[in-house]
Amino acid sequence: TARNPGESEFHQAVDEVFESLGPVVARHPDLLDSAIVERICEPERQIIFRVPWMDDQGQVHINRGFRVEFNSALGPYKGGLRFHPSVYLGIVKFLGFEQIFKNALTGMPIGGGKGGSDFDPSGRSDAEIMRFCQSFMTELYRHIGEYTDVPAGDIGVGGREIGYLFGQYKRITNRYESGVLTGKGLSWGGSLVRTEATGYGAVMFAEEMLKTRGLDLEGRDVIVSGSGNVAIYAIERAQSLGAKALTASDSSGYVVDSNGIDLELLKQVKEVERARISEYAERRGSSARFVSDGSVWDVPGTVALPCATQNELNGRQAKTLLENGILAVAEGANMPCTTEAVRRFQESDVLFAPGKAANAGGVATSALEMQQNASRDSWSFDYTQQRLREIMRGIHDRCAETAEEFGMPGNYVAGANIAGFLKVARAMVAQGII
Ligand code: NDP
Repeated sequence: TARNPGESEFHQAVDEVFESLGPVVARHPDLLDSAIVERICEPERQIIFRVPWMDDQGQVHINRGFRVEFNSALGPYKGGLRFHPSVYLGIVKFLGFEQIFKNALTGMPIGGGKGGSDFDPSGRSDAEIMRFCQSFMTELYRHIGEYTDVPAGDIGVGGREIGYLFGQYKRITNRYESGVLTGKGLSWGGSLVRTEATGYGAVMFAEEMLKTRGLDLEGRDVIVSGSGNVAIYAIERAQSLGAKALTASDSSGYVVDSNGIDLELLKQVKEVERARISEYAERRGSSARFVSDGSVWDVPGTVALPCATQNELNGRQAKTLLENGILAVAEGANMPCTTEAVRRFQESDVLFAPGKAANAGGVATSALEMQQNASRDSWSFDYTQQRLREIMRGIHDRCAETAEEFGMPGNYVAGANIAGFLKVARAMVAQGII
């Protein structure tokens, strides 16, 4: 805490991992010899930079850009860029720290990093977004590369932003380096399934967890938060398996639709028009209503998929979900459940999947995009989805087996933390004190 003052989200993420590591340290005391715990908490490199840009009225704005290159033991730094006014170093470090273990769990050769800016894209024109992205990349380009650091999207950074960032990288470096960013458009080096991967992957993980109790998603009421990239494709996948996704939300409130979310309408409102979620309820008719106060977690269902942002589901809301008969929670977002909420779920024997396992499908498919770029190839939707399915099953089984091996059967939090940590720690030890 003294070393990283005021970075509460980072402290929370580190605490959560370290709470799981007692039995690991007892079994592998050698890992402590080279200060592995201290080293793993200290980013290899942290870059903070000025991002000046001009709005459509000619006024100049200054934002702060970040890239935290956290750990390269397993491969080039890999992790998204977030554009949101809440971004500061503590958020970027929490996300980068989580990313190390998540990327290790995928089994792909990628290290951990994260970046972003406190820029608020809401209400900005395309031209403003482009100027901001170009300015951001004018500094970032020095630090990234196919073999160094490969950013992607996150909150506020989707296909449009990746396009502007890639264009500026290419212009500055005069290199068509496809593998420098992931989440690219399909005609210029992107991968099929990348857009869907995080949401689909979270539902695949939920399916695997339910299977351990002889259950599935068919006919279940699913409560989803968020209405961005992760939420939309989590809803799509859950509905394709016969579940009814009842809700979607954004920072202005949530909608509950008793007929199940109309995916085409949601995509039109959110992906095409970039409008507020209340617009969905206005157009949907009598089955849907918009709620601006209260919480999406008040809506009864048996599976919950928090897919918006960190700490969006607290202990009190977990209690409500439990009273309503929740069976499984899979984190589509990063750290959406507070420590207290996780504790309540685990004490009540709810199947609980932490984000670093459940939402790893996005980064795993980014690694598949890198593979396609490296071989100048592009794979079919079905083949790529099959790879994603195998990867998610692999992550599930690795977490479950590790939890079992360390005497905590069914504890996916411990399983994910221990399996991810051991893989990274062993690689760091092998590579010496660097
Ligand atoms: P998007 O920007 O596409 O969507 C984010 C959604 O969450 C929006 O509905 C947004 O509403 C809502 N939201 C964001 N911040 C807040 C807030 N402070 N309070 C309430 N609602 C909020 O982002 P993604 O869907 O890509 O990301 C969602 C989560 O998933 C994040 O935690 C991200 O780190 C994680 N994730 C994403 C991956 C990906 O591949 N995209 C991969 C792995 C994890 P509004 O528009 O009103 O802000």
